[in-house]
Order: sequence, then C-alpha cells, then structure tokens
Amino acid sequence: MSRRINLTLSHLLVTLLAILTSLVLLLLAAQTIAWRLSEARVETFSATVLERSVYLLQQAQSIAQENAHEPAAPPCSAADISHLRSLLWNYQLIKDIGRVNNDALTCSVLWGRLDSPLSLRQEGEQAKHIAGAAFLQLPVANGVEATALRRRDLIIFLSPFAFRRFESEPETAWFSALAVNKSGDERYFTVGRNTEELQQAINGKSRWDYIVRKRCSPQFDLCAVAGARATGFFNESAVIIGFVFFIALLTGTLVSLCWHFWRSKKTSLPARLQRALAQEKLRVVYQPICEIQSARLTGVEALLRWDDDDMGAISPEVFIPLAEEAGIMPQITRYVTTKALAEMQALMQRYPFTLSINVSLADLFSADYLPFLTEQTRQHSLTPGRVILEITERQGANLESMSSAITRFKQAGFVIALDDFGTGYSNISWLSQLPVDEIKIDKSISDSISTHSLNKTLLINLMLLLKSMSQKVVFEGLEETSQITYLRTHFPQSYGQGWWYSRPLDAPSLLQFIETQNKNSSP
Ligand code: C2E
Ligand code: MG
Ligand code: MG
Repeated sequence: MSRRINLTLSHLLVTLLAILTSLVLLLLAAQTIAWRLSEARVETFSATVLERSVYLLQQAQSIAQENAHEPAAPPCSAADISHLRSLLWNYQLIKDIGRVNNDALTCSVLWGRLDSPLSLRQEGEQAKHIAGAAFLQLPVANGVEATALRRRDLIIFLSPFAFRRFESEPETAWFSALAVNKSGDERYFTVGRNTEELQQAINGKSRWDYIVRKRCSPQFDLCAVAGARATGFFNESAVIIGFVFFIALLTGTLVSLCWHFWRSKKTSLPARLQRALAQEKLRVVYQPICEIQSARLTGVEALLRWDDDDMGAISPEVFIPLAEEAGIMPQITRYVTTKALAEMQALMQRYPFTLSINVSLADLFSADYLPFLTEQTRQHSLTPGRVILEITERQGANLESMSSAITRFKQAGFVIALDDFGTGYSNISWLSQLPVDEIKIDKSISDSISTHSLNKTLLINLMLLLKSMSQKVVFEGLEETSQITYLRTHFPQSYGQGWWYSRPLDAPSLLQFIETQNKNSSP
C-alpha cells in the first residue's frame, strides 16, 4: 500500500518536474525569441530612419540640381518665385524653397518677398554641413523652428512631418532615433518621444534591456542610431502567452508519459525476472515423489520459486510462460539444473532417489543443453540415470523432431518424463509417438479419483491403458487420502506426488522429510 502511495507520489513529482522544466525551457526560448525580435525591429527602424534621412537629402540635392539647370531670372522676381513654386510642387518632403541674399532669407514660395529679410546667421554656433549644403535650424515664427539646407543663394526647408509618421504609428511609437554624422558629433534629425534615453544609451549609461542599433549611409556622412527597450515575452498578447503555457503543459505531460512508459518497461515482470535471475535471487524447492504402495520417497521434482522484493511470491504458472516469451528459458533451465544438482548432490549420494527437472522444448532442441547437463551431472558425481527431464509442450511442436531430441537425451542416459498428461498440452497421441520413460498424470485427472463424475469412468479406462504400458506412471496433485486409497487398490505399481505426501520443500526440510521417513520405516 505504502509502496503504491510512494509510486503515485513519484509519478506525480516527475510529471510536475517535467511540466516545470519544459515551462522554464519554453519561457527561456520565448524570451530569447522576443529579444531577437526586438533587436530585429530596432535594426529595421534604424534602416528606415536612415532611408528617410537620405531621401530628404536627395530631394534637396535634386532641387538644387534642377534649379541650376533653369535659365536665371532675377532672384525673388515673380518669375523666380514661380519657378521655385513649380520646383516645390514635385517634392513631397520639402516644405518651402527660398532665396538668400547676404546671409538673409529674402523671399520664399510660401512667404513671397519678405518685407524685412530674415537673418540666417546662427549666433555662437558653427554651421553644420551635409551633402554639400549648410544644415540650418531656424526659428522662423512664433516658436516654430524650421530645418533647412542652404546651397549658395538657394534655401530648402524640409517638411516637419518627414519623421512624424514614425512617432504616431503604434509599431514604431516606442522607438527613438537620431540622424547624426559618422563621428557622432553632429545631430541632424531627432525621431521619437524619448531621445534622451537613446542619448544615454549612446553614452553607455542605459538600462540592460535597452537595445541600440546604428546604420550608416555609404553615400553621405550620415548615420541613423535607433534604440528601444526590448519587449519581453510577457508583453505579448494573452493568447500567445496562454499558447506557450499550453505547449509547456503538453510537452511536460508527454515527457512524463515517456518516462512512465520507460520505467514500467524497466520494471515489467520479464525485466524483473531477468534481474532476479542475474542476481541469483530465484530459489529451487523440491517436492517428493513417492511409491503409491509404500509411500516411500523415490524422487523429487525441482520447482523454481521467485519472491520479488516488491511484488512478493510470483507463481511459476505466471513467470514461466513470461520467460518462454522473453526467450530466457535456456538461462532459467541452466540455473535450475546447476542449483538443484548442487543442493541435492550430498542427499542423492546418501539416498537413492531421482531428481526431476522441468525443461522447455527450447532446451530439448538446443545443441548446448545436453553437453551442459552431462558435464554438470558428472561434476556432481551423479549418473545420468538419476536425472529425469520433465517435458511439457505449451506452444505446439513437431512430434517427430521432439522424438529425435528425446532420443538424444536418452542415449546420453537421462530419463524423460511426459509432464501434465491429460491436459491440452499432452495427450494420448503423444504417448504413442514419444519414447518417454515416465508419464506424469496432471492434477486435473488425479482430482477425478475422489469424485464420482464422468471423469471417473474415463479414469478407469485411462488406468487400464496406462497399466498396459511399460512407462512409470506418476499421479500429480494428490491431496486426499481417498485418492491414495483408490490408487493403492487399483494402480498399486504407480507413483504419487502432492500435498498428501508433502508440499515442495527446501533442501534442509527435504533432508528432514527423508530422515523421518527412514526412521519410521526402519524396524
Ligand atoms: P508441474 O511441473 O506440473 O509441477 C507441479 C505443480 O503442481 C507445482 O506447481 C506444484 O507445486 C503443484 N502441486 C504439487 N502437488 C500439488 C497438490 O497436491 N495440490 C496443488 N494444488 N498443487 C500441487 P508450481 O511449483 O506452481 O509449478 C507450476 C508449473 O510451473 C510446473 O508444473 C511447471 O510446469 C512449471 N515450473 C515450475 N518450476 C519450473 C522450472 O524450474 N522450469 C520449468 N521449465 N518449469 C517450471
Ligand atoms: Mg513438472
Ligand atoms: Mg505437471
């Protein structure tokens, strides 16, 4: 009970651990992906800002070039302003075009001829230069600051909306960018609402999760530096977060299922049996076989016992078929043979009884078992005639090949018994075709001895048949005195095995059994 609770607890723990581990791993992966995505987005943003800045400069350059090609009208004349207006019409990111005379704006497309020219001199500041033009930031009217590029007598005002779109669009609103020269000491354009944080990052004083990416133009002395805080996985939508948790649950459960499957395979009965065999934890017990008439012991049958540490005693009726399926019967038989001969050697040298060993058909057909058995018997100083091999057929075999295999063992001096006679496994047709020395009548037939059923009629006829045969007959599973009495009357030359005589015994108890019998029979 407590083992079962422990098992359930350990299963639960493994499942929880697997779910937790996959959750942690998946979150780590999701976080890494989210980080990489943020990096990619900042990278893209810096490229977009650079592209837009370059485009602005190209538009200004293009206006300057177009203006140079036109035949000159007097500056700020109606013809000149009209010419500038037609130039302005084609450029989407240019707000105004004007003329400069003596470092002052004298006219422009939007304002016409100015009554008093607007000075372009910037107090205390050195004019910045880019793309062959002076870059100006001019207070034009009522706190409005205009960005302009001046080439000789031409001034081009850039649209204040050139970068506004990035600040209002939801995907880019949380980015900031600066358009600067390559050495970084001149700033031209500012994009975004939080450029201070970006400037701090450029100065190396930002938070760990602030990403900065820089992209430079091969054409101009211009770079765009973009920055934003990385968005973590938990900033994703509830659906995506929920999906990742679901996948973690699924993989965790799958992993734990695989673990349980692997464990149950490892702890399956055949695996446990193989371990018990390798660790020599299987025992052999011996059940007396006695003469019906005198009840004197004439032999013992070696029976294998398996007491599993966790599951307790497991019957051979369960584990022998499993061992047959797992193909480990040859190892089992060798184990029983070696152990039984070693445990019985001393007793068999003192008392003239036989040792019956159950063998499978695989052993009978194997090329190694006969030499192995011969060698073991010799090593234990026993003659082969004292060893009986009990055969049962469970899987359906070819009688001819069985017969020749039996003959090989018999030629080596061993005795062969046909086990479980009367069951589906062994029947009359076998008797006539197999050269066996002994027939063991199955308990299901022995049971009918003490009843008055139809089986009893069958039994009388069977006994007539058996009596006419030369083989030794052993009745298995004798439990009742009535069975013994009946057999003593009707089949006195037969043998018996069963609880009526003794349960299977370990070697010391068997010695006691034999000694008690000898004491009782001695005059
Ligand atoms: P089996 O060879 O016919 O062995 C006789 C079975 O009947 C044994 O069961 C024995 O304990 C049981 N038995 C004997 N007398 C009585 C009785 O009076 N009443 C009842 N109810 N049972 C009795 P066990 O030991 O459980 O073995 C079952 C079967 O497993 C064996 O049948 C045999 O076929 C197989 N087996 C056992 N040990 C080995 C082994 O070492 N090798 C092989 N190949 N098979 C084995
Ligand atoms: Mg047997
Ligand atoms: Mg049997």
